[in-house]
Parts: sequence; structure tokens; C-alpha cells
Amino acid sequence: MTANLLDFDLEGLAAYCASLGEKRFRATQLFRWIHQKGARDFSQMTDLAKSLRDKLQGAAHITGLPVLTQHESADGTIKWLFDVGNGDAVEAVFIPEDDRGTLCISSQAGCAVGCRFCSTGHQGFSRNLTTGEILAQLWFAEHFLRAHLKTNGERVISNVVMMGMGEPLQNYSALVPALRVMLDDHGYGLSRRRVTVSTSGVVPMMDRLGEDVPVALAVSLHAPNDELRDKLVPLNKKYPLAELLDACNRYLAHAPRDFITFEYCMLDGVNDQPEHARQLVELVRHHGGQGVSCKLNLIPFNPFPASGLVRSPQQQVQAFAKILSDAGIVTTVRKTRGDDIDAACGQLAGDVKDRTRVGTRIAQQRTVMLKPLPVEAAPKEARGT
Ligand code: SF4
Repeated sequence: MTANLLDFDLEGLAAYCASLGEKRFRATQLFRWIHQKGARDFSQMTDLAKSLRDKLQGAAHITGLPVLTQHESADGTIKWLFDVGNGDAVEAVFIPEDDRGTLCISSQAGCAVGCRFCSTGHQGFSRNLTTGEILAQLWFAEHFLRAHLKTNGERVISNVVMMGMGEPLQNYSALVPALRVMLDDHGYGLSRRRVTVSTSGVVPMMDRLGEDVPVALAVSLHAPNDELRDKLVPLNKKYPLAELLDACNRYLAHAPRDFITFEYCMLDGVNDQPEHARQLVELVRHHGGQGVSCKLNLIPFNPFPASGLVRSPQQQVQAFAKILSDAGIVTTVRKTRGDDIDAACGQLAGDVKDRTRVGTRIAQQRTVMLKPLPVEAAPKEARGT
């Protein structure tokens, strides 16, 4: 079988080239052609010896993912749906802002975590993406956008967030080489601060990421106590808040920024009450005696039919944010982008098949979930403090 060169980080490509009897600097040249220039054909690589190009022609290929659809929003957001075979599709979203261009990419087809508010979670899990499939989203988007926006070869994507479909830390072996390519000066040359892995809290893998490739970390929190988080993010039953926050503090020793971003999806009547905000303050300020250095990102929920959940009213979000800000916690409210093309987070691949019975199972739990947490029943202090 011929090798897809998108599957390799630079070390992997060097080893592959060595297996062909080629020196390391050839791997670097090849790597730059692929990632910096977007080459997909060895004949384009004019500074490689003809003999090497001929050798590669028979032994390797550079193959991205077929684009099923592309939608461009009025606000400049672009969403691509990529075919990963067997009826599965994954999405990537480009979000342009004044000072940056952010690409949100996927790590798995579907997701096994099954968060209640997430359309991907409702579809169940199909499979892990390969390193090449993770990178193909960035490789395609960067080189498409350079041509589309006529940048004259200037880089467009300045930030990558692993916040699309899937739990990146449950696909660790494919994730790590992909991150290395993003960071490599011969690849995309992004700084560790500009590459963010978002996790629902796979504690052991957070520790490994901190050792292996300590990029910026975002943690999907979504609830200030274990009782509620068990329901919203099922992984909490395995790694409860106390363990998760301990892992955040360990990660901070390696992180490129001196804070962790906590994501908090605002669900009307479920996790958006003033008491929840006060519990959240208590949790992040006092966990383990020292708290966790963090920023809070409040995310408007993007409703999808199967969820049975409702977006918190703006007023409720502002009141929640004020409690956090007044307690000295840096708090942002995420703008919704690409609403007209269903590109906002949690809506990825919304029309893709339900792969398992998970959608039905979650729907059956919905009546439980929709009941707001009685404020008086909520613990005064979060567990684990
Ligand atoms: S929010 Fe993330 S971890 Fe949770 S189900 Fe969705 S993709 Fe998976």
C-alpha cells in the first residue's frame, strides 16, 4: 500500500525518506512542499531530484479528504463537510476575525462522550480520524483560503482549535503528530499559544499532552458541580470535577498560557442560574485551596431538534457573566458566528446519520435533563474543594 504523506509529522517523514534511502533534508523539503505550498503532486516539487520524484510517484501520495459541501456565511465564516468514507463526514469551520483567522477542526467521526447539548454527541461514535485526516482539514482550508482570498501566498489561518467533532484526547496517537505538524516551523509554524485542544476532561491524557505537546488547553466544564455535570458531560462520572481541576493545575505547569479556558454552554434553566454562577466562582477560586487560573468562556447554546434544550436568554447570560466578573474571573461571552449556515459549535455535521442508538437513549433521558437544578438542593460548595 502506498503511504499518504499527510499522515507523517517531520520525524515520521524523515523515517519514511530514510526507508527510501533518502537523507533527512529531503524530508524537510518534501514537508515544506506539502504543508507550506500545498503541493499535491510530486511533479510540482521542482527542487527535488527527478530520481526522488520518480521514486515517490510509485511509493507515496498526498491525498486530502473529498469536500462534500462548502457553505460561506454572510459574516465570512466558511464551513466544509468532508467525506471520511463509509457514510461518515466531519466538519471544519473557518472563522475570520480582524486580527486572526481561526480554523476549528474535527478529530473523530462522531464522538463517544455523548454530551447532552452537543449534536455530535447525539450521533454516537463511528471512528477515530487518522493523523492525515485531521491534518487534511487544515491543509485543504489553508491553501483553499489563500487562493479564495487572493492573499498572494500569505498565510490565512493563524489559530487552530480542536473543537470540532470528537474528543481529541480519545484519539491521542493520531492527535499528537498532527499537533506537531501544526507547530513545526517547516509545517504551519503556529505557536503553542495559537493551537488549542479542547477536552471534556480525559484526565490521564491531559497529563500526557502536557508532557508531549503542551498547547493551549480548553476544558468543557458546563456545570459547577458533579451532580449536574454527570448529566451534561457523562465523562464526569469517570473523572469528576476534583480530579479534572487537579489535572488542570498540573497542566498549567506546562501550558503556553498561564490560564486554562473553561467552556460553559449556557442552557436555559439547566445550568444558568445565579446559584450556578456562585458555585462556579467557589469552584475555580478555591479548588484545592489555590483555585485554578482560568478564563471562562460562556457559549450560547445552538439548539438542534433532538436536544430538547433551549438557549439561555441574553439577559440571563449577562447576569451570569456579571457574577463571575465581579468575583474577578475573566469572562467572555462567545459571539455566535455562521448561524445562517449552521456552523456554530455543537452543530457540526448535524445532518449526519445517527450511528448508534445513542440518540434514542439520550432522548429518553431528556425529561430528567430538562428539569432545572433546584437551587436550594445545590451544594453550597462544589465537591472536591
Ligand atoms: S461536546 Fe465534544 S466531547 Fe462532548 S459529545 Fe460533543 S464532541 Fe464529544
